[in-house]
Amino acid sequence: MSGDMANMADKLEEMESEIENLHIENDTLCLRLQNQQPEKCTACQAPKSCTWEKQEKSNRWWKTGCGNTWMLDDWSTPITDGIIFCPVCGGTVTVKLQS
Ligand SMILES: [Zn+2]
Repeated sequence: MSGDMANMADKLEEMESEIENLHIENDTLCLRLQNQQPEKCTACQAPKSCTWEKQEKSNRWWKTGCGNTWMLDDWSTPITDGIIFCPVCGGTVTVKLQS
């Protein structure tokens, strides 16, 4: 009897650690999907980010992290224009500094 109880407690612990592992695996897959195919990650509620980088030899065209281009006023940046969210993918805009 007490042996059964101990077995059940063991099983429960096993299941809990398995659930924990599945959560970690799920988060990992979600992140990968967001990076590779953000349009397909509909179940994930984690905030996305979109890194914008100014195109070479252009004062106005920016490359978005989600693979599009966006035109701003001359010498504007998403920051000076107050663009917080990417108009294309809805991710939070971060600006990649020129190297
Ligand atoms: Zn975007």
